[in-house]
Amino acid sequence: MRRYLFTPGPVELSKKVEEATKGQMISHRSREFSSLMSGLQLKLRKLLNVQEPVLLFPGSGTSALEALLVNLISRGDKVLSFSCGHFGERFREIASRIGAVVLSFDKPYGEVFTKEEVVGAVNLYSDASAILITHNETSTGAANPIEEIIEGLPADGPLVLVDAVSSIGAMPCYPEKWGVDGLATCSQKGLMAPPGIGIVWLSRRAWEKVRQNKTCPSYSMDFLLMRKYLEKELPQTPVTPPVSLFFALDASLEEVEEEGGFLRRFEERKAYAQSLCKAVEDLGLELLVKNKPSRSCGVTAIRIPGKAESVRKGLLEKGIEVAGGQGALRNEIIRVGHYTREGLSELWDFIQALEETCKELGVAVDKMSFGKIEELYTGRCR
Ligand code: PLP
Repeated sequence: MRRYLFTPGPVELSKKVEEATKGQMISHRSREFSSLMSGLQLKLRKLLNVQEPVLLFPGSGTSALEALLVNLISRGDKVLSFSCGHFGERFREIASRIGAVVLSFDKPYGEVFTKEEVVGAVNLYSDASAILITHNETSTGAANPIEEIIEGLPADGPLVLVDAVSSIGAMPCYPEKWGVDGLATCSQKGLMAPPGIGIVWLSRRAWEKVRQNKTCPSYSMDFLLMRKYLEKELPQTPVTPPVSLFFALDASLEEVEEEGGFLRRFEERKAYAQSLCKAVEDLGLELLVKNKPSRSCGVTAIRIPGKAESVRKGLLEKGIEVAGGQGALRNEIIRVGHYTREGLSELWDFIQALEETCKELGVAVDKMSFGKIEELYTGRCR
């Protein structure tokens, strides 16, 4: 069997993207680099359907979250943090380290927030500067209904800062249309490029706040400086960027367009996720996220309490790398990433290996046939 990287990022690169990383270096002060920057701007603004610029800088998803907060939050600001998993907690911790007064709201792992819960909290603390919320909680595979939640919030309320690290590129996310103020993501998940690029987008309202704050305590993450360089006649970055990764990200975005665009990709990811969930349930295993509409298009968590780690290792021996549970979910779940172009053959290989591994470890599962999986995947049983 083929080897599979089914972790929720980084993900397997296509040949085209892999090739794009191998090019010779160019200067980041050259015309060629500026034209790469301009192309990336167009492609990313199209993906997010936004007018305001998209900032790219060296870093990971955490760096993008940190950059958002360091530019928008000051010591003593009141921040409402809505967390339903490990990454919600991380976003909150970054705000605390900056010196914000963080009020925490938590949901059990596997669940998401409702509009009423968030709106209720915001109404109670109308002096809050910002709310922090995760779009797709990668530690559980549950996606918060961001658009619906924002619909209920006052337009002049706290800034809405969204961790979209594991949603962008895999599921619809339109920050300008939805009313998001700050969005953080990165290159190595739904955008299918190597890790190393932090990506941020801000609303007009958030840019106003950045301008008011004047001096950002971080130089390399200073959004005003990044924007100044981006808006030069020949767009650049203030610090040396990971040039090879910029080429790779550009190639990945181009490839998605060649394949029919992001709308088509979102449908495919959703269809794959739904087929996988149904196949896992038909095997007799339990999914962590019970509410179907909350299930992620990019990562699925399967509950195998007490045996999850053994199953993860068993799958690895068969050439399939999935992720384990984090924090309290360690040895409770395995997390299967499906961020690239997984289709019927990947689904069949995974389900077969999962069935076999569970049987080897004494976890009761039913038998699945290729015909059944094919039927699921072609949509008849979804
Ligand atoms: N936020 C979410 C939702 C994530 O899934 C991750 C990584 O998996 C992060 C933040 C942190 O990203 P990174 O590991 O790239 O710093």
